[in-house]
Amino acid sequence: MSAQTLLEMKNIRKQFPGVLALDDVSLDVKSGEVHALLGENGAGKSTLIKVLGGIYIPEEGEILIQGRKVHITNVHDSQACGVSVIHQELVLVPKMTVAENIFLGREPMKHGVVHKEKMNEQTTELLKNFDLDISPDSLIEELTIAQQQMVEITKALSFNSRILVMDEPTSSLSDKEVSFLFDTIRKLKQQGVGIIYISHRMSELNEISDRVTVMRDGEYIGTVVTEETGNDTLISMMVGRQLTNYYTRTFMEKKEKVLEVKNLSDGKLLKNISFDLHKGEILGFAGLVGAGRSEVMKCLFGLDPVTEGEFYLDGKAIQIHNPSDAMNHGFALVPESRKEEALFLAQSVKFNTSIKVLSDFIKGIFVNNSKEDEIADTYIQKMSIKTPSSRQIVENLSGGNQQKVVIGRWLATQPRILILDEPTRGVDVGAKAEIYAIMNELALQGIAIIMISSELPEVINMSDRVMVMCNGTITGSLSHEEMDQEKIMYLATQHDTDTREELND
Ligand code: ADP
Ligand code: MG
Repeated sequence: MSAQTLLEMKNIRKQFPGVLALDDVSLDVKSGEVHALLGENGAGKSTLIKVLGGIYIPEEGEILIQGRKVHITNVHDSQACGVSVIHQELVLVPKMTVAENIFLGREPMKHGVVHKEKMNEQTTELLKNFDLDISPDSLIEELTIAQQQMVEITKALSFNSRILVMDEPTSSLSDKEVSFLFDTIRKLKQQGVGIIYISHRMSELNEISDRVTVMRDGEYIGTVVTEETGNDTLISMMVGRQLTNYYTRTFMEKKEKVLEVKNLSDGKLLKNISFDLHKGEILGFAGLVGAGRSEVMKCLFGLDPVTEGEFYLDGKAIQIHNPSDAMNHGFALVPESRKEEALFLAQSVKFNTSIKVLSDFIKGIFVNNSKEDEIADTYIQKMSIKTPSSRQIVENLSGGNQQKVVIGRWLATQPRILILDEPTRGVDVGAKAEIYAIMNELALQGIAIIMISSELPEVINMSDRVMVMCNGTITGSLSHEEMDQEKIMYLATQHDTDTREELND
């Protein structure tokens, strides 16, 4: 006999202004099952879960719990149906204690007041399940993000729900915490709890899930048994095509030199950085975190002061004292942390793509409103930015689309030298492939690209040459034909021998 079906969500539809987030999506969960929900950023996973959790009301569709139709119109309805949700965004109250957060709205009472001792005792008991070294009296804001997440999970478990939903629960957990979580999930399975588990990580899905439902662009794609399904199949269901040409790159003969950097030092980390850059090439910068790659680019772009060194553009010496100088010479920089440094999250796509954002840097550029619309629309199309309109707020876009907005804005300045710092970090696989195709296209148009990347497959597949850095110096360079992971890693860790030599001096 097959296990009892605990939950059925049928033909759910949810529309946001301009985005159909769920289009006829269905999902069912059995007792003792871990059902994974897989899809790229923006696929609609969290929205589906918020419908189940009573946060959004769908326009169409129905929810059945153990065969009976239910109406979930708020969080309490959802809890009353035996559903507990750990949302992707933490929802704990920072200024309250761990115990107060876990028992919020259902505090144990004595003589009409909250029975603090009892609440703390019960909290300690609950935290024990996880071997957590957290006091029930600690304020949430005093905890690390991982600890907060464990409190959130503990809270969800404390409801003794039949259905438990976890929306990307492991994103900030250590390996040890993940294995605790998985042990707990296995225990809950044995007790007959049904679990919906959202994650991007293939290895986790393979380890913990029984079935996988794949969503794409708000649509239901299919449900498969994990054991019988290969990762290739899951990925192609997720992105809607085979990823045979994941990396797009047309390698060409070396063209003329655009930029030469000679003996650059910053008086702090960087020492004697020299390299040249040619038209239409992608020059990779590899190295471990802290090697100084981003620092080199900041110097190049006039963001950080240089103590020594020369820059030559088309063979002529140039001075770069600030970003405005750099931009006037045709440089563009897409920084590593787009959220902090590059985007106005609460503003529209139009605002973010427009060069008005950059006019603080470039003097003498005047952009009127209709010109701005035109630019925004051009780059939304060119970069295939997935947004209902140029008026959409950038924060609502997926990571990949946010990155495309930043790149698109810079293309509007028609740069000759485009510096990309970790261009695909935090971007899902489909958007990654699109960003590679865009980089290739730009190189074909003759733009010289510098790409800092910590992903070696990306460096190896996309770069004409790679400069490898360690501890503020360039330890070597490799051509496309020469490079492989081992050689790059060897150069990236050269600093041990360097220090030894220095010590011997
Ligand atoms: P996922 O969790 O799979 O990454 P989401 O469910 O968060 O995806 O988002 C699905 C789509 O709905 C995205 O296009 C997103 O931009 C949009 N969306 C999500 N929440 C809102 C909202 N509150 N208002 C408008 N659009 C939203
Ligand atoms: Mg989500």
